[in-house]
Amino acid sequence: MFRLLRYYSFTSGLALLAVALVLISVYREVSLNHVVEMVEKENVAMSRAFANAIWPRFSDYVTLDAPRDGDTLRARPETTEIHDIAKGLVSGLSVVKIKIYRLDGLTVYSSEFSQIGEDKSQNLSFAKTAAVGTPTSKFGFRTTFMGINGPLKDRYITESYLPIQGKSGAVEGVFELYSDATARVAAVTTDVKWLSIALVWTFGLLYGVLFIIVRRADKIIKRQYSDLHHEVGERLTAEQKLRQALHDAEYANKAKSEFLAHMSHELRTPLNSIIGFAETMSHEVFGKLGDPKYREYANDIRRSGNHLLELINEVLDVSKVEAGAMEINEDDVDLAAVMKECAALMKDEARKVGIDLSVSIAKDFPEFRGDSRRLKQIFLNLLSNAIKFTPASGRITLDASIEEGGGLKIAVADTGIGIEPEDLSRILLPFEQVEDHLKRTTQGTGLGLALSKSLTELHGGKLSLESEPGVGTTVTLRFPPERALVAQPRLPLNL
Ligand code: ADP
Repeated sequence: MFRLLRYYSFTSGLALLAVALVLISVYREVSLNHVVEMVEKENVAMSRAFANAIWPRFSDYVTLDAPRDGDTLRARPETTEIHDIAKGLVSGLSVVKIKIYRLDGLTVYSSEFSQIGEDKSQNLSFAKTAAVGTPTSKFGFRTTFMGINGPLKDRYITESYLPIQGKSGAVEGVFELYSDATARVAAVTTDVKWLSIALVWTFGLLYGVLFIIVRRADKIIKRQYSDLHHEVGERLTAEQKLRQALHDAEYANKAKSEFLAHMSHELRTPLNSIIGFAETMSHEVFGKLGDPKYREYANDIRRSGNHLLELINEVLDVSKVEAGAMEINEDDVDLAAVMKECAALMKDEARKVGIDLSVSIAKDFPEFRGDSRRLKQIFLNLLSNAIKFTPASGRITLDASIEEGGGLKIAVADTGIGIEPEDLSRILLPFEQVEDHLKRTTQGTGLGLALSKSLTELHGGKLSLESEPGVGTTVTLRFPPERALVAQPRLPLNL
């Protein structure tokens, strides 16, 4: 996890330190520049005073255009005179050394006598002042320095070359004044010290306040992170459980389908024997049964056996559908004939309970591409349901038409007890029934509708249910136009 507090402590501490150092060094630099500027200005003013005191008397001596060496100059009485005047002028001032140059660089006078006679012409600052007439200054630290009143130690010295202008305004010579700026630098150092203390306090306070804010934020983030972590963990566990449950359910469903398929298959063999022998007995193939009751029982056994076989076949079909193993044998089917045949098969049963069953098929209803056995199974299921759930004197219609676009629509409608809206989707699932209707006076496994729906879908169609309790139910099958075969004109057959 990102460690905000540690990151903040480190980076902001570093940043504040860097800012403080930059501020202090900038302040120190600016202050020292200011000191140099001020000392230079003072030196310019002082150079005027020196010029006024020395130049009228010694200008000719300084500017004298003749080769002179140090010893000669030092021996000259003017040197002592200038030295005395200079000493008097600097007493009580910060000036600690004075030099006077001829314009060609000859050191005519220096308060440090050993330097008299030296050539300064190669010094850039001197050359600039002598040629252009502007003052130039240099600032530096000297561990030892020979001042006009004796040797000095550890001093900040500003040395300024200052032009000496004659009455005409032309530069006639150059002064060099050395000023002791140690006291001013010390003042700057003291300022810097106070500034540093102030900055340490201010930044320390700022750092402290920000630290508290960041620590709070860090705590909040950590808490939220841990909550989130917890939540994600819980969700992952729940997801894992769900996946496991789904896996278990799929496994159980597969096991159920396999069991049903296996059992149905195993049951069919003995059942066929039961039906076959019951039939043999009821027809008295091997001789009279004697009491007529035996024939009646044999008939009952055959009927029940057949019913059981139908149920087993349905269970087998459903498990095949669920396993995705149901296949249909497609062929060209005269669907109108199939529907009529189914209606004819159910007509008697309907009439027995006083229900009118009618069939209406559109004239140009086409042939159909599908499995006639499975299609028959669908219609028989739907018609038998309609009969089962329609009271006496009710009506059932089977209506087949062509929809716009060429699709086929087949509707089985009844005027029966209907289905409650909340049961509509449920009863399309295998084994689902609307329970207390007719108090289960009807037979059934709850597989018929589910199977019809699956078989319709295997034909590329859709089964939908519409129902109103007490009014009736309509089951509609819709097949896509591809299932309809283009009717071939029937040619008259001439033999
Ligand atoms: P079964 O008829 O064997 O019970 P089905 O899957 O065919 O199983 O039907 C499921 C349930 O749907 C029926 O038990 C019945 O409650 C309801 N049902 C089906 N068709 C109709 C209908 N035409 N009218 C009223 N209820 C119906």
